[in-house]
Amino acid sequence: ENARPAYRRVLLKLSGEVLMGSGDFGIEPEMISRLAAEAAEVSRMGVQLAMVIGGGNLFRGAGLAQGGMDRVTADQVGMLATVMNALAMQDAIERQGAYCRVMSALKINQICEDYILRRAVRHLEKGRLVVFAAGTGNPYFTTDSAASLRASEINADLMLKGTKVDGVYDSDPKCNPSAKRYERLTYDEALTEKLGVMDATALVLCRDNAIPLRVFDVYQPGDLKRIILGEPIGTLVER
Ligand code: UDP
Repeated sequence: ENARPAYRRVLLKLSGEVLMGSGDFGIEPEMISRLAAEAAEVSRMGVQLAMVIGGGNLFRGAGLAQGGMDRVTADQVGMLATVMNALAMQDAIERQGAYCRVMSALKINQICEDYILRRAVRHLEKGRLVVFAAGTGNPYFTTDSAASLRASEINADLMLKGTKVDGVYDSDPKCNPSAKRYERLTYDEALTEKLGVMDATALVLCRDNAIPLRVFDVYQPGDLKRIILGEPIGTLVER
């Protein structure tokens, strides 16, 4: 096959929840293997692929804080959850025969590298996948914001958000059968209509740094590759 990728450097954000597969907590081996295989395939096509993985399949700061935990501590637990997911993804990617490095915003350098932008770019240029872990390293942020930040820093030409839904809708397609899916949206529309694409911090970072975002259904095998080849799958959010 000689199909040409439409992008050079891409940041893929996966929520922690997609790692659960059909389960309701943790990591489903079949699911993470499939995601890793798709990521490795894209990398072999010559695309520089970086990833940010959330932690919602394990711990979310807001949820823990609701149970009474101090919010900053709860967010630290949430950030550590993203490190666990990142290590699992690194393992799954390397089992696919590709090379991968986890780079953490918090120093945990006996099990992964510290995040250093220039080093991250070097890994990407050498064809290694990079998984950015521990979010932004700060409480009160989300991994969507971390993804927008890293996409801006590495100068990604596309950010992808892999979710359980096949794009952005004007209302919840699970509750409203006539909900309409957007093919294209601006960041300002996403912000003012409160469409739940990402939190406002993440949207504003992408908007101000002119990073286009495509939201797609990560449960559709092959869609990641099709998007990389330029197919307009899901919803495109841009400036
Ligand atoms: N988190 C944080 N700072 C960040 C990113 C994440 O404190 O920069 C914490 C926060 O508690 C969050 C948890 O890590 O709830 C897991 O991330 P997130 O909820 O974004 O994961 P996702 O919903 O994508 O699975």
